[in-house]
Amino acid sequence: MRLRLFSPEEPGRGAAYGDISAQWLMNGPARAMSIIADDSGHLVSALRCYPETLVTRERFGAYVGATLRAALAERPQMCIERTAVIDIDRGRHGFVLTDSRGHRFRARTVVLALGNAIPADDFLPHELRESRRYFGDPWRTRIDELPAGDMLCIGSGLTAMDRVAAFRHTMQGGTAYTLARHGYLPAREAPEIRACRYSELGIDEDTPLSLFRTVRTAMSRRTAAGGDWREVAEALRNPSQRIWLGWTTAQRRRFLERLAALWGSLRYRVPPATDDAVIALRRAGRYVPLQGEIVAASESEHGIAIDYRRRGERHQITVASVVNCTGPNGDLHTNPNPLIRALLRRGLIRRDPLALGLDATSYGEAIDAEGLVDERLIAVGPMLRGILFESTAVPEIVEQARAIAIRIAREREGRVA
Ligand SMILES: Cc1cc2nc3c(=O)[nH]c(=O)nc-3n(C[C@H](O)[C@H](O)[C@H](O)COP(=O)(O)OP(=O)(O)OC[C@H]3O[C@@H](n4cnc5c(N)ncnc54)[C@H](O)[C@@H]3O)c2cc1C
Repeated sequence: MRLRLFSPEEPGRGAAYGDISAQWLMNGPARAMSIIADDSGHLVSALRCYPETLVTRERFGAYVGATLRAALAERPQMCIERTAVIDIDRGRHGFVLTDSRGHRFRARTVVLALGNAIPADDFLPHELRESRRYFGDPWRTRIDELPAGDMLCIGSGLTAMDRVAAFRHTMQGGTAYTLARHGYLPAREAPEIRACRYSELGIDEDTPLSLFRTVRTAMSRRTAAGGDWREVAEALRNPSQRIWLGWTTAQRRRFLERLAALWGSLRYRVPPATDDAVIALRRAGRYVPLQGEIVAASESEHGIAIDYRRRGERHQITVASVVNCTGPNGDLHTNPNPLIRALLRRGLIRRDPLALGLDATSYGEAIDAEGLVDERLIAVGPMLRGILFESTAVPEIVEQARAIAIRIAREREGRVA
């Protein structure tokens, strides 16, 4: 069996772990971020760090690359092609892949591990998207690329917090703003906190609302008993995919509309060092969180004026730069990746009903345009958010990858036998 890995970027240097993320930290402790499924201490021993350390994302990317290179060195049947796949079609004996050089490859099974697409911007005014002051890729824009002066981040999640914290290094001063519809800011991470026992929490999983009510009660109880509400948030991580799978599409939609922003602020927490930097800037009057929705934008000689609406009232701020920090775009129909466009065109994949990613079985097998499951076209990671919801962080991805590897190996054993 041969395994061919395609990646135009250096492996380990996807959107989250590129070279601009040198000072940005992982949002989970090293003890939970091993990429070897059977060895949870692998990252801690590879980097010789403490289990509770939040390593920089740059260092984590280097660890992923080094681990992969070590695995390849021992296995001549595995190799990396440093190109993008731009098309996949079904052939007589499996799939035919075409890469950006025009080379073709055959494969019996294809795993789509395409990661996070840059944030959607089709909801933003045209004048903003066309402006040279607008930066659509928050993960590959260096702080020194931004024009000097005030900065607005659209969104107030972890990416926005990273950008605000990095703003303290700008020499020219200025104020950082975040603007979000909901106005929640991510809670502070406490790396030493561990999950409590889920079964003792009395969580009612039936509907998004019953879940929300019982989680809130469990968090209050935990805090009142001298514990930490984060223990409850952590305990929800394991059962979350099962809970999501048990809800109807209408219930999932209700969760997204009413509760996802609040849940996100409790679940995806900001590293203490980043939080400290944000707090310091806020105290100094250099960080201002705003709530509202952008309705118009216009360029002026002083910058770009952004009009936003909050509770029926219109406000305006003028800034030197605007960074889109609204989170990965899950909607396949607006995803610019040529491979996704080709797969959609050929009808090999389709969008999930909530447009969070790709439609698939809970195992990741793609469902095609006709509704048929293709067990040889398997997705892993963020593309499965519509199906599993919790499908973006390292521990969940490692589990999915392990399940796929075991299945492919068993199938092969069966064929050989
Ligand atoms: C800014 C940011 C910070 C994050 N921080 C954390 C964190 O602290 N902890 C955590 O657990 N998770 C974090 N995440 C979640 C993240 O989803 C995972 O940690 C992980 O990076 C996802 O891995 P992946 O391999 O699916 O995607 P990626 O690491 O993005 O890799 C996808 C790869 O696919 C390649 N590719 C895309 N299209 C093609 C094509 N057509 N042909 C060939 N190759 C292609 C890309 O070049 C890229 O190398 C973060 C995500 C982001 C965006």
